Amino acid sequence: MNTTEILEKIDSFIRDEAGVTTGVNKKEELRRLIYEILLVRGITLDGLKEDADLRSFLSRKLEGGRRFLALKEVLVRLRYPVAVTSENDFKLYLPRLRLPSGPVTHGLSHPFRPHRIFVQKEVKNLPFTERIVGRFPDVPVTSFGRLKDLVPDRSRLLTDMGKRDLYIVNENTDIIKPCPCTTGALGCNYHILNLGFGCPCDCSYCYLQHYSNFPGILLPANLDNFFSAADNLLGESAGRFVRIGTGEFFDSLALDDITGYSTALVEFFRDRKVRFEFKTKTANIGNLLGIADAPANIVVSWSLNPAHIVGSEELYTASLDERLAAAATLSTRGWRVGFHFDPVIYYREWEKDYFAVIDDLAASVKGKIAWISVGTLRFYRKLKPIVEQRFPSDKYFYGEFLLDPADNKMRYPRIIRTHVYRKMLEKLRSALPGVPVYLCMEEPSVWKEVFGSIPSVREVESSFLPHGPGFEQ
Ligand code: SF4
Repeated sequence: MNTTEILEKIDSFIRDEAGVTTGVNKKEELRRLIYEILLVRGITLDGLKEDADLRSFLSRKLEGGRRFLALKEVLVRLRYPVAVTSENDFKLYLPRLRLPSGPVTHGLSHPFRPHRIFVQKEVKNLPFTERIVGRFPDVPVTSFGRLKDLVPDRSRLLTDMGKRDLYIVNENTDIIKPCPCTTGALGCNYHILNLGFGCPCDCSYCYLQHYSNFPGILLPANLDNFFSAADNLLGESAGRFVRIGTGEFFDSLALDDITGYSTALVEFFRDRKVRFEFKTKTANIGNLLGIADAPANIVVSWSLNPAHIVGSEELYTASLDERLAAAATLSTRGWRVGFHFDPVIYYREWEKDYFAVIDDLAASVKGKIAWISVGTLRFYRKLKPIVEQRFPSDKYFYGEFLLDPADNKMRYPRIIRTHVYRKMLEKLRSALPGVPVYLCMEEPSVWKEVFGSIPSVREVESSFLPHGPGFEQ
């Protein structure tokens, strides 16, 4: 049975058998709940009707709004079994179900090759621009004036997201800023250097899918402005170590063979009071390997997930083995390396799969590890309808995600998050003793449950410094 037929059966059940006569929005909530229950439990509508609570509801004589609420309560219990037994009060996000009408193709190239290059007039003659344009002599090049006039082609947002086009720009705003972290979370004094925006990889959970207003991948050519902004930040920080990274709006190394950013960044940040981090899901380390002496204050870090999740959720990235091999290579050349188990996706066999990745990591990387972060899958609620359109067969977004109205993010129930963190911490401590581990974007009370106490931001920061546990010489 195809999706359209399943949805027709669900509609007819709500209308004819459940007898719900309330408005369209309420019916849409029921429709989504039933659709998700069938998907998550792998059952048919007839199988669902075997449920004792649902049978009992069907026999009750309720009318109008009371009938809707009674059915919704049964369905919520079936859809969110952990939350109903562990959370006092929780909010759901049940948007109208919109599934793609046909097959979805993303159609990007791997390794990356642009389809078009757009060059802002001010940077046309910079060596950076000439190098990139010269590298793709048969790719059409168009010049343009103002960055703010760029308009995304909405028709491409559900397919390739404009990831085929490069825009070489003169970037002067928002060059460096504190990591926004998330409301109520314990931060770690991280700054984001916006050197690049957009990404040739395509991860199902990537927030750029709803965040980006640009029609392609932006590559600033005016590196001098970035270095001036970094100088200013360092001047204002009065000798305190600052953490800076480029991996928030851009995979730090995904296009490094084209941009060469890493070489310039390493030389600029070398020997400064900065802990600079390259974050990547690729094995694009050629430029770093060309640098003779690895600076102690620079960390190259990889996001890790089980191989099957890399395959299904992190399209156009390096495989898990390739990431670990790249990390091992840099580590043996004296580079500091770090790892991010972020996002950890919770599913039936999650523990076995993630523990196997930790064992693989411990077996591959023999040098010092600067840090490891752990964060469970979370996303802004507006991402869910986009994922349903762009990754329609993805089941991981049908976990028990609850809406946090404080920041409009969807998260697993707290009991699941703390369980995952405790298990990961235990395993990491036994497989990789002495490596600093921190939680990404979690509230202080969760830190307390997992670590036994709430560290201050200074304490979190201190574990990232060159004299921290991962950096002893
Ligand atoms: S690698 Fe990072 S920036 Fe690129 S698509 Fe994946 S999550 Fe987004």
